[in-house]
Amino acid sequence: MKLFIYNNKLTDLQKVRSVLELEGEICALDPSVKRVRQQIYMLCKYEHLDVWKEDCDCKEGKMRAKLNLDGTPRKHKRYFLEWAL
Ligand SMILES: [Zn+2]
Repeated sequence: MKLFIYNNKLTDLQKVRSVLELEGEICALDPSVKRVRQQIYMLCKYEHLDVWKEDCDCKEGKMRAKLNLDGTPRKHKRYFLEWAL
């Protein structure tokens, strides 16, 4: 973990990791983290976490998602640790 400590603040990577470990899952549009998808990629690649994804239909995410041309919210993903299944 010391790899990720930066200015004594939680990096986005650490935030994603701690949410995954505490709650078992994180929405791709979680407002407290920038670019969740990239953090997940890093965690899988360098920390070898087993992270799965599926379509997420949380209300907050739908409100934050970009819109399709027809005005409906774009689909987004949620990520979860394998053990949380
Ligand atoms: Zn969501």
